[in-house]
Amino acid sequence: MGRSKTAGPPRANESLDLVLRWLPAYIFAADTQLRFTAIRGAVLRALGLDDEAIARLIGTPAERYFTGPEGEPVLACARDALNNKSSSLESSWLGRWFSAHIGPVCDEDGNVIGVVGIGMDQTERRRLQEELEAERFMLNEAQQLAELGSWVMDVRTGETRISPELARLLGIPPVSPQHASKLEQAFHPAEIRMMEREKQRALRSCGPYEFAHRIVTPEGRVRYVRSRGHVQCDERGKPVRCIGTMLDVTELTKARQVAELLAYHDSLTGLPNRWLLSERLERATARSRRERNKFVLLFIDLDNFKRINDSLGHAEGDVLLAEVAHRLRRAVRETDTVARMGGDEFVVLLNGIDAEDDGETAISKVVEAFWPPFTLRGDDYVITGSVGVAVYPDDAKDEREILQHADMAMYEAKQSGRNCMRRYRNGTAATTAKRLQLERDVGSAVSNGEFRLLYQPIVDAKSARICGFEALLRWQHPRRGLLAPKSFMDVLENSEHLDSIGEWILGNACAQAAQWRRSYGVPIRMSVNVSARQMTRERHFIQLLAGALRQSGLDPEALEIEITETAIMRDLEWAIALLSEVRDLGVGIAIDDFGTGYNSLSYLKHFPVTALKIDRSFVGEIGIDAFDEAISFAVAALGRALRIRVVAEGVETQRQHDALQILSCDELQGFYFSPPLDGAQAGERIASGAAAASR
Ligand code: C2E
Ligand code: CA
Ligand code: CA
Repeated sequence: MGRSKTAGPPRANESLDLVLRWLPAYIFAADTQLRFTAIRGAVLRALGLDDEAIARLIGTPAERYFTGPEGEPVLACARDALNNKSSSLESSWLGRWFSAHIGPVCDEDGNVIGVVGIGMDQTERRRLQEELEAERFMLNEAQQLAELGSWVMDVRTGETRISPELARLLGIPPVSPQHASKLEQAFHPAEIRMMEREKQRALRSCGPYEFAHRIVTPEGRVRYVRSRGHVQCDERGKPVRCIGTMLDVTELTKARQVAELLAYHDSLTGLPNRWLLSERLERATARSRRERNKFVLLFIDLDNFKRINDSLGHAEGDVLLAEVAHRLRRAVRETDTVARMGGDEFVVLLNGIDAEDDGETAISKVVEAFWPPFTLRGDDYVITGSVGVAVYPDDAKDEREILQHADMAMYEAKQSGRNCMRRYRNGTAATTAKRLQLERDVGSAVSNGEFRLLYQPIVDAKSARICGFEALLRWQHPRRGLLAPKSFMDVLENSEHLDSIGEWILGNACAQAAQWRRSYGVPIRMSVNVSARQMTRERHFIQLLAGALRQSGLDPEALEIEITETAIMRDLEWAIALLSEVRDLGVGIAIDDFGTGYNSLSYLKHFPVTALKIDRSFVGEIGIDAFDEAISFAVAALGRALRIRVVAEGVETQRQHDALQILSCDELQGFYFSPPLDGAQAGERIASGAAAASR
């Protein structure tokens, strides 16, 4: 900076110099004739006056420069100064605005001998002010048009500035600032506690908030509004200021209430339909994230509805559905949601469950709603439901997933013999974290070649020769070691990599089988597991099969896909069409885990199935549980009657082996013969011939 060479603070004269050089200020002096005797200041340059022009000002009467309506007030002030009176004004000169403080200069006797003036360039300030005013005006207009009011509150004092539109909305005088309590007095009494909670939460978290509520004007008019806002905090995280808006949505709300009633409700039961449910779910997830609590979703499917419908007719079926709806509604709180998804499916959303709780009491109330039996045409009917439970956020990451997971859990309930409840399996918070990690890992596993296939021999029951292998997927995880499908299949199925890994599995399994058939000259069959998800894009799936066969040169008859009942029962017509195409390729189809899914076997008539695999849970109970043993027996008999090959899997003991031979299963598979082997080991088994039994 332009400081004098001497050390220490600048003297008065120097200070003035500095001020005039660095501030947009000026100073002048004039004699009693109002002729300039001195004039200095950086602003003069901004006016386009160079040194020469400034020099020319000296000695010239001020009247020459200050003329007309702009100049007159300045001259008036200067004349006042000559009368020993100081005054201030703001005036424009040469297109810019200046402030001026003009006062007299007196001699020792107190006689006025001249005037001095000092002031600053105010052009920029005035411009900002005008802009601000214009903006304020526009904002006001816009707020009025949008019926949107705004406010700013100082958290410490509670002092609140409100926009005119907000004052209009609340029906209070538009004076600002007001006290925050004025605003709060307008809240609907039923919502004051909720609002207070929300406010405290926003203050604690220093974050944004949004909610819909009602206000009551002093004349008692109720308006629906949407309040949004956020809290500003200082560096130490202490809330300093709240800023918010309030939007009048009364007209909108009224229109929506009618539309909602029409579009978002099921006409038979009056319950919310799936659209409204998805909206509520969205809100529930947002709220539980905010409030750090949980909500529970129950997916309920009536077990015997079809029977009622078939035997008593649709009208009676409708009566039943309405009664179920009524009972479910009564079993939950006002704030919970009961929705009808269509058909005989209902969803119950239980809100605000404590973090430590799993909502058991609330859930059992819902389940108990099915008791006592329902009276239809004077007779009592026991109606039961299969219930799937999923908890947010423990079981799902978003509103879409929780519905899906509750649905999956319901399916499991159905499979476990109906009239029961199942919680979504991958349910704990710990597994959720693990799951997230796995989800990330799956991507790199593909590119790093961490997936492998093992092959488990399938043995001909009579000759004990190996007739085929089942390809089983393994993941050589860099940190967690060798993983079986149970620990990652679910993640994989929901990842974008399912297609590519599915293709890889099929390609490798086919290539391996083709190689064995060429090398050892034996008609080895390869069984490959296929998940429901892989089949959803049916064209792609058929092309995948055809491509794997073509590339490997494997005889299509040597390939069999294993699918579960649930995969095909979701949509029978679709499944029949797809599986017929698979059969047209010459590829076999085995129903995996047979006996655990549908109670109805009639579908087998329609399906081009080549094998049934008795689930290992039944095989494991041979000699222990008569009922399960009977199922193995029934499946074997069914296979024989329908001329479908029957494979028993999970054979672990001599005893099971013997029993299954008596039941005349066609093929056996299990640890009794061999665990899953790697490609080389499996090849050796084939080479060594018949010796498959390890004991
Ligand atoms: P799954 O299709 O029922 O496969 C049979 C499972 O039973 C295999 O488990 C096998 O190792 C196991 N096992 C075989 N013999 C015995 C026995 O004597 N006792 C017992 N306790 N278990 C036996 P793994 O390999 O863990 O596979 C589990 C499931 O993962 C499979 O059940 C299948 O549903 C799925 N999976 C495996 N590989 C694939 C694949 O490549 N693609 C698809 N989509 N799913 C696969
Ligand atoms: Ca299988
Ligand atoms: Ca199985």
